[in-house]
Amino acid sequence: MKREEPRVPKKRSGPSSQPMAKLLAFPKPTPRAEEKEDARRERMDKLREIRIAVMKRAQGQCEAPDCHNRTLDLSLDHFMGGSGRRRQMESVENCWALCAKCDAARTANYPNAATWNSLFRVHCKRHGYPVLSHKELDL
Ligand SMILES: [Zn+2]
Repeated sequence: MKREEPRVPKKRSGPSSQPMAKLLAFPKPTPRAEEKEDARRERMDKLREIRIAVMKRAQGQCEAPDCHNRTLDLSLDHFMGGSGRRRQMESVENCWALCAKCDAARTANYPNAATWNSLFRVHCKRHGYPVLSHKELDL
């Protein structure tokens, strides 16, 4: 006599495989794309405020300590540039306005990173900000 295998229900895919609590959630959870767009918009608003505050502080002068270049063509340099936790920490204290010449040098780390770290340290002390270098934050 042949024994029959016990019937195991097949795993379902699709909406019925979701936990019941998630299916019954009301209001429906926000779609991921919408959440991402909201986060992006929030980030851009914050960055706009930082840019306005930094440009106001700079008053048309490059903020690199040894540069006295007066220009309206200043760019916002994120000293702690990056993404993730670094981006979350972006603030008026760790951004500065640089003229085109300084911005290019800083981007290329010319003459070296140590020089730019010490220039930024001088800038922070000048404004009474806590001195934050890449190493000290250990990010
Ligand atoms: Zn400059």
